[in-house]
Amino acid sequence: MSFFENAENRGHESVHQFYDAKTGLKAIIAIHSTALGPAAGGCRMWHYNNEADATRDALRLSRGMTYKNAMAGLPLGGGKAVILTNPETPPSDEMFRTFGRFVDSLNGRYITAEDVGISVDNMRLVKEVTNFVAGLPSTQGSAGGDPSPWTADGVFLGLCAAARHRLGAESLSNLRVAVQGVGKVGYDLCRQLNEAGAQLVISDVNEKNLVRARADFGAQVVTPESILFEDVDILAPCAMGAVLNNLSIPLIKASVIGGAANNQLATEQDGSRLFDRNILYAPDYVINGGGITSVSLEYMGNKTEADVRAQIALIPGRLTEIFSASDKRKKPTNVIADSMAEAIVAAAHSSTTS
Ligand code: NAD
Repeated sequence: MSFFENAENRGHESVHQFYDAKTGLKAIIAIHSTALGPAAGGCRMWHYNNEADATRDALRLSRGMTYKNAMAGLPLGGGKAVILTNPETPPSDEMFRTFGRFVDSLNGRYITAEDVGISVDNMRLVKEVTNFVAGLPSTQGSAGGDPSPWTADGVFLGLCAAARHRLGAESLSNLRVAVQGVGKVGYDLCRQLNEAGAQLVISDVNEKNLVRARADFGAQVVTPESILFEDVDILAPCAMGAVLNNLSIPLIKASVIGGAANNQLATEQDGSRLFDRNILYAPDYVINGGGITSVSLEYMGNKTEADVRAQIALIPGRLTEIFSASDKRKKPTNVIADSMAEAIVAAAHSSTTS
């Protein structure tokens, strides 16, 4: 499928490519929808194999942000940026400022923040040249800062709801949980799972992150090849997308899946595969909405950590509604969530066009 067909088929409003010779910046900003408000979504910095992979990622992730923001009840549309890195030339401070100028040139149609590969310090540089950025250090008690701990909070609460729904468990105590990826979100999720008395099985391709989580939480370490297939109650994908696919799903032993990673299902059909295997899947963009909630409330201004916490506390209820509708209508949870999100966006669209 060509670049244009791909963007059109996924319903994007616009897709922007940026190149800067001086800093070597190569970036793509995809704006999927502004029906609910400015398109908000983090910036991912990654070493893609080629430009087509980067574009595909930006298109998929930005569409996911539309659904995520709608389901989080935020007045925001969906967008995403990707920066294509070259392992031989590490990004300079000036490259982030240049990225900020590109964001600024879209006049507020896109608001950026952190995603994989991007730190709060990187966003501080972006902020030097544009106001269309969030995820910046906040003063004590105010909304803001790194969204990752908030994402972990939402995932933890969501897993409690999923365990209650499927396993009848009142807590996660003594349940076995496999966490794939113990980076920013995965580590914080492990901390909460450990505090709740869960038994942790972890894996990561980054040795430093792995050693830290093992030391801090006494987790059992397994290989990246086996983490998805461990004999556990819950699987929490917190690394990269498309891990739930036609090859992995038949081998999964967990009866509940929920984690931070975006786009966990390789295809929509994989949601049906999980449903057919009676595995309860917590749709990724619902369970991982804590970070964007923090970013969004920070961007709105005058919001506190308590406001963020109150919004994130709604995630388990939303998931339970999806799980119950899935049981009742005998449809996969991803299908139920998509139709709920699409209804919210369609209502906003018709109110702006009528
Ligand atoms: P991160 O880069 O800090 O952590 C990801 C971890 O996964 C790293 O430690 C990495 O080494 C590991 N990893 C990569 N490939 C792996 C593999 N094959 N097997 C095992 N481990 C692997 O990123 P993060 O901010 O923690 O985000 C994790 C996921 O959650 C991403 O998909 C991200 O898009 C998504 N997400 C993050 C946030 C947030 O607030 N940070 C919000 C929503 C969604």
